[in-house]
Amino acid sequence: MRMRGFGATGVRVPAIGQGTWRLDDSDRGQAVAALRAGVDAGLTHVDTAEMYGEAEAIVGEAIRGLREEVFLVSKVMPGNATRRGVARACEASLKRLGTDRLDCFLLHWPGSHPLEDTIAGFEDLRRDGKILSWGLSNFDVPALDRALAIAGPYRIACNQVLYHLGERAIEHAVLPWCRHNGVALVGYSPFGSGDFPSPASPGGRVLAEVAGRHGATPHGVALAYLTRLEGSFAIPKTGRPERALENAAADAIALSEGDVAAIEAQFPLGRRPRTLPML
Ligand code: NDP
Repeated sequence: MRMRGFGATGVRVPAIGQGTWRLDDSDRGQAVAALRAGVDAGLTHVDTAEMYGEAEAIVGEAIRGLREEVFLVSKVMPGNATRRGVARACEASLKRLGTDRLDCFLLHWPGSHPLEDTIAGFEDLRRDGKILSWGLSNFDVPALDRALAIAGPYRIACNQVLYHLGERAIEHAVLPWCRHNGVALVGYSPFGSGDFPSPASPGGRVLAEVAGRHGATPHGVALAYLTRLEGSFAIPKTGRPERALENAAADAIALSEGDVAAIEAQFPLGRRPRTLPML
C-alpha cells in the first residue's frame, strides 16, 4: 500500500481506504466481512459518521481486535457542532464504535454554529486524548481560510470532499489550497456514489482499455487515477469482500502519462464552479 502523511498528524495512512455510507443496506455479516477483508488487504483508513445509521456499529464489529491497525475517522453533523455538542457526539460515536479514541473527527459540512465553537470542541477532545486529530468536510476555499484563521497552521488534518472522474472541481482550488497548507485531501464517492461510467459509454470504454493494459478493472483504474497526486486519498465504499480486495489491488496500478491523458480526454476538468459540489 502507498502510505501517505495524513496532513500534519504525523501518521501515515494508505492512499485508498474504505467508506461506510449506506453500508447498513448490505447484509450485516457481508458488510463486516467486507470491511475486515479490506483492512486485512491494507485499506486501514475507515471512514464513518454519526449520520450513517448503523454503519458505526458495523464498523465497531468489524474492527474488534483490529483497532490498532485502523485509522478510524468519524464525523459530527453540523447541527450538533457546538463546543459541548462536539464532545457529546464524539462520546456517542466512540460508544457505537466500541473504542476509546478516534484518529480523526470531522465536521461533516459547514453549518450555522460558530466555527470557533466547533474547533474549540475539537481541541478539547484532542487535549483529552479522545481524538488524535480533527478535520473538515465539504469546505470550499473561503471556508478553509476562515477555519485556518481560527485554528492556526497545522491543526486541520484533512478536508473530505467530493472527487470522482465526473466531478474534478476540487482540482481547481481546494486541492492546491490543501497541499499548500499541509491538509490531507480525502476524496469521497470515488465511484460517483454508484453512478459509475457505463461500459458502453465512451468514458467506460477508455477505462476498460486502460484496465486491460494493467490487468485491472475500470473501478481499479478510477481509484488509481484519483489517488495519483501526493497528499490525496480515496475512500470507496463496498459491502462485498471481493470488491474490497479489488479496490485494494488498485493500489498497485501505476498509470502511465498516456493512460492519464486518455482518461482526462474523456473526463475533463471542466470550468471552476461557483460553489463547491457536494452530495
Ligand atoms: P462510492 O463512490 O464509494 O460508490 C459506492 C458504490 O460503488 C456502491 O454501489 C458499491 O456497491 C459500488 N462499488 C464499490 N466497489 C466496487 C467495485 N470494486 N466494483 C464495482 N462496484 C463497486 O460511494 P459513496 O458515496 O459511498 O462514497 C464513499 C464514501 O465516502 C462513503 O461511504 C462515505 O464514507 C464517504 N462520503 C462522505 C461524504 C461527506 O459529505 N463527507 C458524502 C458521501 C460519501 P457495493 O457496496 O454493492 O459493492
